[in-house]
Amino acid sequence: MVSVPVYCPYCQSTEVIKAGKQANGTQRYQCHNGQCVRRIFLLHDQDRGRVPEVRRQVVDLALNRSGIRDTARVLRISPTTVLAVLKKSRRAATRQPHVAASSSFTRRPRPGGTRRRGG
Ligand SMILES: [Zn+2]
Repeated sequence: MVSVPVYCPYCQSTEVIKAGKQANGTQRYQCHNGQCVRRIFLLHDQDRGRVPEVRRQVVDLALNRSGIRDTARVLRISPTTVLAVLKKSRRAATRQPHVAASSSFTRRPRPGGTRRRGG
């Protein structure tokens, strides 16, 4: 068996132990460095949409009025991922106390239409 030293991508520590697996079978690692910002990490990012740097670029491009598809092509991620990142980032940006937040949202009808029973 050949063991490859695993470095924590956040603090470069080698005090890393295996920490089970993801649902998809990817090996997870845990950093044992007490000062590390991140405890659990994957050795290889599974998809670029999860890389913090890429996520930041998605938001930057969106702020520069790039289209979803433009962003997806430039960053080599899927348009679906772009949308997911933007949705999450918007939720994080509008982190407000629960003061009648729903009233400020303008409801748009969904393309598929929501089915209602009765009435
Ligand atoms: Zn670490």
